[in-house]
Amino acid sequence: MKEIIRAANSGFCFGVGRAVDEAFTILRPEGKTYTMGPLIHNRDVTGKLTDQGIREITPEFIPMLNPEDTVIIRTHGISMTLYDELKARGVEIIDLTCPYVINIQKKVKEYHGKGYKIIILGDLNHPEVVGINGYCENSAYITKDGTIDIPLKGKICVVSQTTEKQSNWLTLIGNVAKTAKEFVAFNTICKATEDRQKSAEELSKEVDAMIVIGGKSSSNTTKLYEICKRNCANTFHIENAKELDAIREKIKDAVKIGITAGASTPEWIIKEAMENL
Ligand code: SF4
Repeated sequence: MKEIIRAANSGFCFGVGRAVDEAFTILRPEGKTYTMGPLIHNRDVTGKLTDQGIREITPEFIPMLNPEDTVIIRTHGISMTLYDELKARGVEIIDLTCPYVINIQKKVKEYHGKGYKIIILGDLNHPEVVGINGYCENSAYITKDGTIDIPLKGKICVVSQTTEKQSNWLTLIGNVAKTAKEFVAFNTICKATEDRQKSAEELSKEVDAMIVIGGKSSSNTTKLYEICKRNCANTFHIENAKELDAIREKIKDAVKIGITAGASTPEWIIKEAMENL
């Protein structure tokens, strides 16, 4: 008899749930509707949006936009420069940037204006980090694991990508404190991310196999996978129920199977995978 246990906190967070709900209500028959990059890191959801006529674009497409077009900004947000470029095209902007990300953008803008050097803990190429960096004229020092290899001079302001691991944040703060004379630090790791990571950490210690459900390009899902893998060698990352077939043989002897899912994984995908198991 197998036991399937779902992590206490898993699946859609507030910001993603809000963005997806709103995006599916947007119908602009007279114009064309676009998202600046995939709305969320989940191909099942973005596929449904494409069926509804909402297409993904990249910043290079902005000069081709017309005033009758609508552009949705996803939870990760965009830089001020891109925002201004969209405004200049006269398009309708539906801004679904998560309020927690807006908070980071505001802090970075404020402290950059006060002469602080901005340090961001996060992935250099992640759209959320690219957007935040745009609020300090792309001058931030970005570290993905908390290590710093530049001399820290003057006043320092530290923030984090919302999906970062707490352990990386502690490493970074330790390193900044070693050399910086004056610094402010805002732990902007999102509570939803933290809660999902804690639940995944606890559950992965008690089970024989762990399944992490979410997009392969989802940063927070990948971090859940890394956390679980540390505690449970039998950890697998799948995008949806269809991918269970590839791992069924590997988990056949597991009695207790843990399930968790990233903040961009919709409930129907999690339920389908659990029922399929
Ligand atoms: S993980 Fe947090 S910051 Fe990111 S969209 Fe969800 S609620 Fe917002």
